[in-house]
Amino acid sequence: MELMSRRKLLENIRNIAMLAPAIALLDYSKALAKSVVYKAADLAENKKNPSIAALKYVKDATKSKARTVAKNGVAAKDQVCSNCNFYKEPGTIGKEAVGKCLMLQNQLVHANGWCTVWTKKV
Ligand code: SF4
Repeated sequence: MELMSRRKLLENIRNIAMLAPAIALLDYSKALAKSVVYKAADLAENKKNPSIAALKYVKDATKSKARTVAKNGVAAKDQVCSNCNFYKEPGTIGKEAVGKCLMLQNQLVHANGWCTVWTKKV
C-alpha cells in the first residue's frame, strides 16, 4: 500500500515536472500578447522636441520627401520606425502602433514613421 502511494506520488511529481515548461511557455505567450498602452501626450510630435525637425521625422514615412536612399540593403520605401534599430518597447495608442525612439530621448514615434537617421534593426 505504502509502495503504491510512493509510486503514485513519484508519477505526479514527474507529470508536474513535464508540464512546467508548457506552463512557463503559456505565461510567456500571455506576456508577449500584452502590449504596452501609451499616452498620446508622450508622442514626440507632442513634446515640441527640436530633434524632430533636425532629423526630419515624419509620423507617416510615405509622406517624407527625404526617404529616398537605400540603407544597409533596405530600400527607402521599406524603411520605417518599426524596423529601425533605435525603435524600442513597441506598444499602442488606441489602434495605432507606436514605440520609443532612442534618438528622440525615448519619446514615442509612430511605427510607420521615419527620420534621416533610420538604421536597420540588428
Ligand atoms: S531613429 Fe529610427 S525609430 Fe527614431 S524616428 Fe528615426 S527612424 Fe524612427
